[in-house]
Amino acid sequence: MNLFESVKAAVTVRQAAEHYGLEVGRSGMTRCPFHDDRHPSLKLNESYFYCFGCGATGDVIDFVARLFGLSSYEAAQKLAYDFGIDPDKPPAAAALEKPKYPLARTFRQEELHCQRVLCDYLHLLERWKVKYAPNSPDCYFVVELKTVEFEPEFAGKLSFYLSAVDGEMKSPDDNPTIGLLLCKGKDKMVAEYALKDVNKPMGVSEYKLSNHISEELQDKLPSIEDIEKRIN
Ligand SMILES: [Zn+2]
Repeated sequence: MNLFESVKAAVTVRQAAEHYGLEVGRSGMTRCPFHDDRHPSLKLNESYFYCFGCGATGDVIDFVARLFGLSSYEAAQKLAYDFGIDPDKPPAAAALEKPKYPLARTFRQEELHCQRVLCDYLHLLERWKVKYAPNSPDCYFVVELKTVEFEPEFAGKLSFYLSAVDGEMKSPDDNPTIGLLLCKGKDKMVAEYALKDVNKPMGVSEYKLSNHISEELQDKLPSIEDIEKRIN
């Protein structure tokens, strides 16, 4: 059995087509690589192929020769090499032995390796997306504490402070400055009308005085005695 016969005996057209990357349907139909084929019109039989679109036909060696632009002999050599067929083996052994696909296996392993590399890369990108996300812009926060009930003019004053901070301190990347008025008490309606036409982010809130100081803060705050000493 010569090289041509060995190759043809060992490799079907379909096996070759799949090995070289064509997607073959159950019925042996595939999109023809020899013409601009939108729907599968190339029929792959065991020993020959035929295209209903362009009429291309031949055996497995013709197929590979045409696919890679090789001579028949080069195509037969390529098939023998890619499918691990040894033409020097006794004809009977070559005919009986199932093709081994050493390269197909290598290809599969490389494919798996590539998948792993891509997965790792994807995970790396996902981590970077979080790690290097741009910091959300900062903003200044102005709090004014009033020891009296809320009065409408407080809103104007706070608005002025906000404008001043925006103009003097805020950088272009920062968000607009936010204002909070803390008052001893507020009439909800008065506060609402006072803030109605103010186009700045600001709010009014009541505070309640508490005698209870959490243990955490007790160490950090000066005692009444300390304050009295300083004032005197
Ligand atoms: Zn065709």
